[in-house]
Amino acid sequence: MLDDDYDDFLIEVGTKIRFDYGALHCEEFGTVTAVSDFGIVTIKGDIGFVEEINKSCIMMPGETTVNGSSIGVFIDGVGFAEPGGGSALRAATKDNPRNLPCPTCLKPNRLTRIDQARGYQCDTCADRAERGYDV
Ligand SMILES: [Zn+2]
Repeated sequence: MLDDDYDDFLIEVGTKIRFDYGALHCEEFGTVTAVSDFGIVTIKGDIGFVEEINKSCIMMPGETTVNGSSIGVFIDGVGFAEPGGGSALRAATKDNPRNLPCPTCLKPNRLTRIDQARGYQCDTCADRAERGYDV
């Protein structure tokens, strides 16, 4: 987790965070509202709580702890590309550039790495799939 590649990776204001406290508890979701110079990340939960956590404790999606547990605090993605809009695609950032092709229409530069990891397609294809009309 202290690998240089992960330092600063996607953890910035607007980054989505998922708290996984194990099977007996619900998952919680929140959004990073501040990152201090000392690596303390402030996360505002979707249901109102505020957590402060050391940046090095936040794990990548799918990462497990050293003892193999999947319980922890995870990056759930960066902010939506269109907050409040209809798109599920994530905003492009310097760590998450929109430089990957859509898996459906194969047009270039449609998806970010997170979008691809989540199996998304581009907005045009998603609209077509969801609303059932051809463009
Ligand atoms: Zn597409």
